[in-house]
Amino acid sequence: MNARGLREPRRKLHVKTYGCQMNVYDSERMTALLAPLGYAPTADLDDADMVLLNTCHIREKAAEKVYSELGRIRLVKEARRAKGRDTILAVAGCVAQAEGEEVLRRAPFVDMVFGPQTYHRLPEMVARLHRRSGAVLDTAFPEESKFDHMPRSSPVDGPTAFLTIQEGCDKFCTFCVVPYTRGAEFSRPVAQVAAEARALAQQGAREVILLGQNVNAYHGVDDETGQEVGLGELIRRLAGTDGLDRLRYTTSYPAEVDDALIAAHAEIPALMPFLHLPVQSGSDRVLSAMNRRHDRVFYLDLVERLRRARPDLGLSSDFIVGFPGESDKDFQETLDLVRRVEFIQAYSFKYSPRPGTPAAAMDLQVPEDEKDARLTELQDLLNVQQTAFNAACIGRRLPVLLERPGRHPGQLVGRSPYMQAVHVDASEDKLGQIIDLEITRAGANSLGARPLVPARPPAVTEVAARHAPEASL
Ligand code: SF4
Repeated sequence: MNARGLREPRRKLHVKTYGCQMNVYDSERMTALLAPLGYAPTADLDDADMVLLNTCHIREKAAEKVYSELGRIRLVKEARRAKGRDTILAVAGCVAQAEGEEVLRRAPFVDMVFGPQTYHRLPEMVARLHRRSGAVLDTAFPEESKFDHMPRSSPVDGPTAFLTIQEGCDKFCTFCVVPYTRGAEFSRPVAQVAAEARALAQQGAREVILLGQNVNAYHGVDDETGQEVGLGELIRRLAGTDGLDRLRYTTSYPAEVDDALIAAHAEIPALMPFLHLPVQSGSDRVLSAMNRRHDRVFYLDLVERLRRARPDLGLSSDFIVGFPGESDKDFQETLDLVRRVEFIQAYSFKYSPRPGTPAAAMDLQVPEDEKDARLTELQDLLNVQQTAFNAACIGRRLPVLLERPGRHPGQLVGRSPYMQAVHVDASEDKLGQIIDLEITRAGANSLGARPLVPARPPAVTEVAARHAPEASL
């Protein structure tokens, strides 16, 4: 035992995380849950007493990729056993939730299978595994909240930390598996979120990214009043947390962005001027088939209202091309929406069916070569917009949160308010600081900055003014 009564690490844990930031957050929490059992993280798979795959079901053939990874780990497990060392193999996350017993049938050497809602029971599952032979399966949607059963926060790794405030989704977009794998919408109480934010700041986080599958659905209870609090009000309260300089949130559902949240963008300087606002398509016909609850007019109006509140707001989005039934006219409407909004970043994908979702059974699937051509055209346009925004930053001074060493000696990498990666030559004692830098170079995906210049008040709005959207909307 150490001075705090915790068992000294004597076992090694190798975690491999797939997919979104929520999975990254979950992996950190699972690592924290296992620390009191003596597990310390290792990057070395061969050295691991426990291997944990935290899986994602969003990408095509996700389950098959997990099975093939399991086959590889099986060889490691067998090699270790030959040397008298056991390996616990755990499959967590959305593939585990969706596949359940099928994982144990196809990969009987797996020891534990559990979904995103039950990993707070991990210590108990490990104990059960040690008590009896046979694998442990736990993919229920439990009554109790996992957040009530976990350490208050995970160890902070760098000045930016994730904080899950909401889970699950009730929207049932026809292409998406999340409502089936993550369950119904759930919000953590305000006091719990605030306590975790304070703990993260005390451990050195300067920026917190609030996470939720549909973060705009946040409606956490305020224990003092018994009333529910929305995302805008939550951000307002967290902005006063000692030591926290920056707040962000993701992933947004446009139809649930309310006036209080828009006002938060106008009034709270700590809320960074960058928003990921997935639109998916610019065609009302396709949006309706996707069961999205916004149309293009709503989305464009929302963008205008947000930019009126925060003129320097940079927008990012998600796009799916080749959704079943998408015509060339529909696709042209997507391109038109992109031209009107001018995104500074975006993620775009070809539609691919997810088993069990309504869209997978729809007629009129778009041929692959057509999807390829549309994706190329869309990405070309998005790249032009992203590159133009980055180029517009040259000569500007931006406050940059320095996060980690760069690839070259003496180089650090940080984040601008707009989520751009910024490279600068600076000493490591500047890590974790927010420093005004002069942007000198711009590429498609990152910026370069001059060595540190004397601090002056952040000039975020300077960039904004050059990217103000009034013309196109
Ligand atoms: S809102 Fe997002 S998470 Fe929910 S079903 Fe739609 S795409 Fe999936």
